[in-house]
Amino acid sequence: MLERLGKLGVLRHRWRGEHPGDVRFGAALAEEVAKRAPTGIAVGVSLHTESVLAMLHRFGGSSGYLADLRERALDGTAIGAFAASEPAGGSDLSAIQCLATPVSEGWRIKGSKKYVSLGAVGDFVIVLCRLADRSGTPTQRLGTLVVPLEAADLVREHEKLGTHALDTVAVEFNDVVVPAEAMLGRPGLGLANVSYGLSFERLAVAAQVLGACGHALALAVEHTERRVQFGRPLRGHQHLEFRLADVLVELEVLRGAVNHTADQLMTQPLDRKLIARIAAVKVHAARLAERLMSECMQMFGGAGYLPRETPLGQMWQDVRLARIGGGTDEMMLALVAGELRGAAEAYDSSIRIST
Ligand SMILES: Cc1cc2nc3c(=O)[nH]c(=O)nc-3n(C[C@H](O)[C@H](O)[C@H](O)COP(=O)(O)OP(=O)(O)OC[C@H]3O[C@@H](n4cnc5c(N)ncnc54)[C@H](O)[C@@H]3O)c2cc1C
Repeated sequence: MLERLGKLGVLRHRWRGEHPGDVRFGAALAEEVAKRAPTGIAVGVSLHTESVLAMLHRFGGSSGYLADLRERALDGTAIGAFAASEPAGGSDLSAIQCLATPVSEGWRIKGSKKYVSLGAVGDFVIVLCRLADRSGTPTQRLGTLVVPLEAADLVREHEKLGTHALDTVAVEFNDVVVPAEAMLGRPGLGLANVSYGLSFERLAVAAQVLGACGHALALAVEHTERRVQFGRPLRGHQHLEFRLADVLVELEVLRGAVNHTADQLMTQPLDRKLIARIAAVKVHAARLAERLMSECMQMFGGAGYLPRETPLGQMWQDVRLARIGGGTDEMMLALVAGELRGAAEAYDSSIRIST
């Protein structure tokens, strides 16, 4: 699908104009793909169009190795993946061990990454590495390096609960050497680069929820109009119709949050406050997705539980990934918690707790 989107000029349209391009269009694209295709496809598309392209655009420069790669990524002729999570460091990316050592030809990379989505079908991967000094001793500094996927050893393709349309693999880098220009952004700023790319992905995840749950809602409404129980269509039982209306209410509120945040991302610097806002939208959307998908599934009664009869069960399992991928609920809440502020003056003037 990414090749087709590239050929049609959709990816260039997303990233036209000043950085960070048309974020609203990116969100609309994520929603549309999630509405029309399995969530696994939507996750893969957003990974490339949002996370990978955001980092290449922001840190790739205007000429040379990375700029050439970005042009091919925009044409859909080179598909990018992103590898941060390791067996040792998942939520805590400061613990990662995959090592990049400076050598005369550029950087030598050694280590493993546990989850790389698009890793089996992609062409290159942005790898978060710990930087070593010239003697090979690990430092506290992290960097992001762009590595051809053909240079990585595929260890296994993960069997997953859902998102089967998306390949997610474990890979190893066994002394892979990349040129110095493969360093994306400044050495030492790897975590900041990753945080930047992930903010775009997180917003896209929220937009995917709009698409996937919107599709489930439409199926559920149709079913409640066709299925008759107690002498009338299910929709004629007001309790059910109102529950479906509630799903729409929640999706409309989420749509407002996604659009508002997309506008902010287009017009404001991506500071801690905005990162936390995006995290808030993502965690809200992810939890909502699980609940709303289950609610739509409920309208099908037993058939909702039968994968050969309805896709709702599979869709429910697919959207569950939103609570993990791009950073877990808990990590999103940690970012939001950093923005909690008390109101000292109002407290002093209005709270009178007796001792
Ligand atoms: C299908 C799939 C595709 C993926 N694709 C990619 C990919 O393309 N690239 C990539 O880099 N990663 C990818 N991931 C990895 C994903 O981002 C991580 O699984 C996720 O960030 C959590 O890391 P972990 O699995 O190591 O869990 P852990 O970090 O071990 O956490 C386990 C649990 O503890 C919680 N927790 C951890 N620390 C704290 C704390 N301090 N306070 C409170 N709670 C805490 C977590 O939120 C989580 O619920 C993918 C994962 C899956 C399942």
